Amino acid sequence: MRIEVNRDRCEAYGVCESVAPAVFQIDESDELVLLPFTEGQVDRATLQVAVDGCPKNALLIVD
Ligand code: SF4
Repeated sequence: MRIEVNRDRCEAYGVCESVAPAVFQIDESDELVLLPFTEGQVDRATLQVAVDGCPKNALLIVD
């Protein structure tokens, strides 16, 4: 399982970061950084909330 970000869509609103800060981080340049994670560290339901909450529809879970 991994996350794909459509960089053309993402506007660094940070909704994903607020839901799953272990995976998503907005850096000091207002860029979204995806942190490395293993499936045991983050549950899929949380990732799905983050993906569904993105106001720009910029995130995708890939199995
Ligand atoms: S919620 Fe969407 S637009 Fe906001 S930082 Fe995350 S991916 Fe980017």
